[in-house]
Amino acid sequence: MLRRFASYYKPHKKLFFLDLLAALIVSAVDLIYPLFTQTIINDLIPNAEIRRMVVIALILLGLYFIRASANYFMLTYGHLVGGRIEYGMRRDLFSHLQTLDVSFFDRNKTGQLMSRLMSDLNEISELAHHGPEDIFISSVMLLGSFIILLRINVPLTLITFGLVSLLLVVTMLTRKNMRSASLNVRKVNAEMNARIENALSGVRLTKSFVNEQFEEELFDEVNTTHLGKRFQFFKAMGWFHAGTNLIVDVMSLVILVLGGYFVYLGQINVGDMVAYILYSTYFIAPIRRLINFTQQFLTGMTGFERMVEILEVRPEIDDRPGAIDLSEVEGLIEFDQVTFQYQRDGEDILQNFSLRIEPGRSVALVGPSGVGKTTISRLIPRFYDVASGAVKIDGIDIRDLSIRSIRRNVGMVDQDVFMFYGSIKDNILYGRLDASDEEVIAAAKKANIHDFIMEQTDGYNTIVGERGVRLSGGQKQRLAIARVFLKDPKILVLDEATSSLDNENEKIIQAALTELAKGRTTLTIAHRLSTIVAADEIVVLGDEGILERGPHSELLARDGLYARLYRAQFADLTEEELRGEDSATS
Ligand code: ADP
Repeated sequence: MLRRFASYYKPHKKLFFLDLLAALIVSAVDLIYPLFTQTIINDLIPNAEIRRMVVIALILLGLYFIRASANYFMLTYGHLVGGRIEYGMRRDLFSHLQTLDVSFFDRNKTGQLMSRLMSDLNEISELAHHGPEDIFISSVMLLGSFIILLRINVPLTLITFGLVSLLLVVTMLTRKNMRSASLNVRKVNAEMNARIENALSGVRLTKSFVNEQFEEELFDEVNTTHLGKRFQFFKAMGWFHAGTNLIVDVMSLVILVLGGYFVYLGQINVGDMVAYILYSTYFIAPIRRLINFTQQFLTGMTGFERMVEILEVRPEIDDRPGAIDLSEVEGLIEFDQVTFQYQRDGEDILQNFSLRIEPGRSVALVGPSGVGKTTISRLIPRFYDVASGAVKIDGIDIRDLSIRSIRRNVGMVDQDVFMFYGSIKDNILYGRLDASDEEVIAAAKKANIHDFIMEQTDGYNTIVGERGVRLSGGQKQRLAIARVFLKDPKILVLDEATSSLDNENEKIIQAALTELAKGRTTLTIAHRLSTIVAADEIVVLGDEGILERGPHSELLARDGLYARLYRAQFADLTEEELRGEDSATS
């Protein structure tokens, strides 16, 4: 863990060593001061050597300017090293999160991940530069003062340094407590973040059900736990600091009493005693520094550990060595005896499912909810891997293809369209980031959303709000379609949301989708049967797999499940519409 932490210093080696050099200068100047004091009291004052005293004062003044510059450097650039290290860690964690599987995000809460990225790493920059500085300065000061103190008086020095070992023991004993308390605080902190994220993103639902009180109670629960865990941490911290400081205080007392006693015995003179006391503060200061460092280290490292925990999660879905780049896509999609579970050894969502969609053709999936229609659509861009069998594009198992090349060629329009906070243009551009303004507009026109956009005061620069809250469901759908027009993939996966739309909107969207599907292999998950009568093949799914398949007219003629579903949905429609001469398909 420490080695991993240290690896983050590498790119900033130069600045970091300069920082340590500045720290060395600061501690060296600190060490010189008592030496001069000793000389002044023992030699210069008794002999009234005013000139030498002035010289010493001038030297000290000069040294203090140097010390001030070193201090400035340490504070500014030392912090910068820490800041850069924190920056590097955040960057690594964020890009690692981008590589993880969809299933990872199914399992983890957004708020918790955010706290690993933010608050858990907050103390890293302090630790990253103060840590080594503290250790370095403290070692120099401890060693320096130990040598100097030995020269003044050996027994006194040995006794005081004996107490240092006691300090080490106490630190070791309390360390574990503090570490686990800090880890607990982080865990509940993450839980609280997740709660807040959840509550804020669901605030509209909360209001509509007038469940504000309930949300407050839920929040209070985690907030109280948080306070409790923090109190445990405060206790551990209290014990640690009070205990270690007590020992340090006793150390000063021992020096004062024993020193006085040695002066009384005539073993040392007053000048030596004063120098001794001054030096002892110089080694007590680094000890206090180390004590503070220990706490900073323990809390900082728990944040680092939590980051590493995520960094060690390997994506299960990754490119095979030598994965092929899919180019010149035909668009043939095959499900070959696919069995699939979301969790290993979990329930089979699909069993020996086979389906073939010829290039440029369209297949619609229908069936009761929960039979696995959406699941099938998620297997095409390889969001999940099959347990057995294979999904193939142009006859190649998608596990042999590079993930980028698969996803570049698959366009999805989801039932629940996601919009990023930003402008309408940004959201369309997401389909192909390097597209020109003209291409964006052309895509919007094809998606039947251009006129709406032009009616907005800011046009394409209109802000859509978080997750697109300022847009209607139909508008979001059309923007999502524009996005896919821009991407221009060979394969389309449409999870229809038309059930939530009014007739007018449905027609506009259906027209855009029909246009989009031209020349592309299309898999549609249909909720409204009226929209799929034109599909080349309709596949009716049940719990046991495919129940019926064929074009609309054939299925109607067969008078099976599909025909029943269809009639039920269109009980109030005319015969022509029932036969599939529905206007929505035109
Ligand atoms: P449909 O689209 O036909 O309504 P889905 O494919 O959404 O059905 O769901 C099929 C089954 O898979 C359901 O039982 C559902 O609970 C389960 N399921 C869907 N998504 C996940 C997921 N991310 N993790 C675990 N189970 C899931």
